[in-house]
Amino acid sequence: MPLLVVGSVALDDVETPAETRENLLGGSAVYFSYAASYFTPVRLVGVVGEDWPAEHTRFLQSRQIDTRGLQVIQGAKTFHWRGKYFADMNQRQTVDVQLNVMNQFDPVLPDDFRRCKYLFLANGSTDLQLKVLGQCPGASLTVADTMDLWIRTQPDLLADLLRRIDGLVLNDGEAKLLAKDENLVRAGNTIRQMGPRFVVIKKGEHGAMFFSKHETYVLPAYPTAKVVDPTGAGDSFAGGMMGYLAEQGDFEPKTLKEAMAYGILAASFTVEDFSLDRLKKIERADLERRMEEYRKMLSF
Ligand code: AMP
Repeated sequence: MPLLVVGSVALDDVETPAETRENLLGGSAVYFSYAASYFTPVRLVGVVGEDWPAEHTRFLQSRQIDTRGLQVIQGAKTFHWRGKYFADMNQRQTVDVQLNVMNQFDPVLPDDFRRCKYLFLANGSTDLQLKVLGQCPGASLTVADTMDLWIRTQPDLLADLLRRIDGLVLNDGEAKLLAKDENLVRAGNTIRQMGPRFVVIKKGEHGAMFFSKHETYVLPAYPTAKVVDPTGAGDSFAGGMMGYLAEQGDFEPKTLKEAMAYGILAASFTVEDFSLDRLKKIERADLERRMEEYRKMLSF
């Protein structure tokens, strides 16, 4: 089943202890789309400026990613993010964010996009997420991501969004901030009571936690010794997870757990190089091979 995503489409500068790279293809919706495209056709909604290289659009189209919802605004610049990682590669600081075209983005979805049953509201402003949600009244599974910036600046809109979605994916620091609780297990349950049926808390190299009314569990990250650039790991996680759910066409507890595992594996590839450079070298079979190892690792 096709999967619709709205979120940032970006040019990123990334500083790691080993190397700095500039103007990389990035953005929450881009990482998400690419990871999801291993499982299902993706419809991408986003905005870029006149500095956006057309080759990036062609690259996305070369997978099963429909870019008719990618608006190009002349006379304006693409969203630009610069981040810096510290020695252990877990701590990240946003050095600069230029919202640029994101400030003037008012998406109007093509008719077939509006009929999508699977919807992911990737990291971006909450008002933008609500605009897209409002255009997809028939979605049967809606999941959103959010971050500290929106938790702090758009709390009322976020409260509204939480009441209208099925699932929320966010990282551990953001979960603590949103729930106002330092204990992650309590935080996960508190957020669930704000509206979504399930909550996924991403814990970077420590994997991800799942919370629903009936179960709470943790899946570890796939152990990879090669961490070159963690940017986009969270979005790739969500892409792998949602892509698998859309492919399977159900969201039973067992399918959700498998989907979490595919998300973790998609993220494990993303961190092995800058931008999408590692992901673009793999096939579905590579994900399946890693899944076999991951299953063996977890059985005792
Ligand atoms: P992740 O490492 O999964 O958290 O995702 C990093 C990606 O999110 C980068 O490619 C950035 O371009 C994008 N990003 C960073 N800050 C924001 C923001 N405020 N809104 C939307 N996307 C962002």
